[in-house]
Amino acid sequence: MKETNDTMMQYFEWYLPNDCMLWKSLLNVGKDLKKLGINYLWLPPAFKSAGGINDTGYGVYDLYDMGEFMQKGTIRTKYGTKQEYLDAIKSLQKSGIKVLADIVLNHRFGADEKEDIIAYKVNPNNRNEVIGNYRTISAWTKFNFSGRKNTYSDFNLDWSHFNGIDYDDIKKEHGIFRFYGKHWSNDVDKELGNYDYLMGCDVDFNNLDVVDDLFKWGKWFLNETHVDGFRLDAIKHIRSSFYKRWLHDLKDASDKELFTVGEYFSCNVDALINYLHENDEITTLFDVPLHDHFKIASESFGHYDMRKLFEDTLVDKRPSKAVTFVDNHDTEPGQSLESWVKDWFKPLAYACILLREDGIPCIFYGDYYGIPYKNISPMKELLNVLLFARKYLAYGTQRDYLDDENIIGWVREGDYYHQDSGLAVLLSDGSGGCKLMNVGKNLANCILYDCTGNVKETVYVDKDGNGIFYVNGGSVSVWIKKDNMYNL
Ligand code: CA
Repeated sequence: MKETNDTMMQYFEWYLPNDCMLWKSLLNVGKDLKKLGINYLWLPPAFKSAGGINDTGYGVYDLYDMGEFMQKGTIRTKYGTKQEYLDAIKSLQKSGIKVLADIVLNHRFGADEKEDIIAYKVNPNNRNEVIGNYRTISAWTKFNFSGRKNTYSDFNLDWSHFNGIDYDDIKKEHGIFRFYGKHWSNDVDKELGNYDYLMGCDVDFNNLDVVDDLFKWGKWFLNETHVDGFRLDAIKHIRSSFYKRWLHDLKDASDKELFTVGEYFSCNVDALINYLHENDEITTLFDVPLHDHFKIASESFGHYDMRKLFEDTLVDKRPSKAVTFVDNHDTEPGQSLESWVKDWFKPLAYACILLREDGIPCIFYGDYYGIPYKNISPMKELLNVLLFARKYLAYGTQRDYLDDENIIGWVREGDYYHQDSGLAVLLSDGSGGCKLMNVGKNLANCILYDCTGNVKETVYVDKDGNGIFYVNGGSVSVWIKKDNMYNL
């Protein structure tokens, strides 16, 4: 059967202009993205957020307001109105692209009123440790959603639906405050003792009323938007049993497969595997350890042991559950998880996620189109070449040559269903060089050329499939059949 490789794209970056135009702009891009091989598009959170049109959507105020009600000084969100969001989804789906909605349930921002609450201050570096006695604090925890006037839901939020906050308005003091009678969830990430609390008003997933509302909301959201799946935000801060139940419930209620990828931002592959285990592997996860290896390699300027690039990564340990990526809106310069992969290494990293057999790769808007605000140039030209190579040629058995600390490579033998398919990839973080690789019988007796244009010479593959391939220093080369039917 002729199947095409899956490819995801994250269609936003942190510093997009606040012009409320993103949803509208999506009406015209579906066909072109699909042509590149993109079949999953991850859109930013569509919910009215505390910062109004200046908010990327992660400071969620009201999950039932997707740009429809006058709240936080605006009807629109940073990306447009609810109707424009729905139109964008429909248009993308018509082009054959599945749309993933960004779901942010861990916290809320922008409460309408303060409440007096008895609370303990906890040690920010060990959230299990209480500092001093309990006291009364004044906290912004009451959400009336008065601009929505109970449309869709009359469920409002108050302090009882949260377990902690980061500000006391009496003493004007910042810190982490856990509410009296509340506890952090146990089944969350163990970093900082207990990583239930991330920011804002932390939703209490032990409170049955708020959990019940999130189940109702999920069905409402799916019914309104008809999205094809989700990107789940901040899951290491939410008790792991929640999303298992929530996703099972939605999958039962939907006739769609509901592809899901979770953001468990940890470089520890065992923490990721543990989460998958606790959730019956109901979701895929972003391969944060692989991103971390890319970043470290890019900062080592030739002194990284390339044999270890895929060691202890999710794509290595749980290939079917890995969504691989190079960078995203949180890792870009100036952001909370800043860990930007340096420019020179980016082409190598993208070859690693796009041209190998395992993992669903997610390319980042900020890499593809650039980040003007940070003077970061687009990589569109190179990424188009790699995307086409993925779409048409990266098929068949993979053979690894991860055997040298400076130069590693792999080949894809190609298959019967994709004409002229098969390729060879070589990367060097050092001074470059060559490697003998066997590309298999499909490309035997062929002349191959480097479609990235980095190496100008061609390579002859002998009758047994052996060829000597070249790569420049700190670079990548991708060898495909010369005179093939595709004009890369
Ligand atoms: Ca939490």
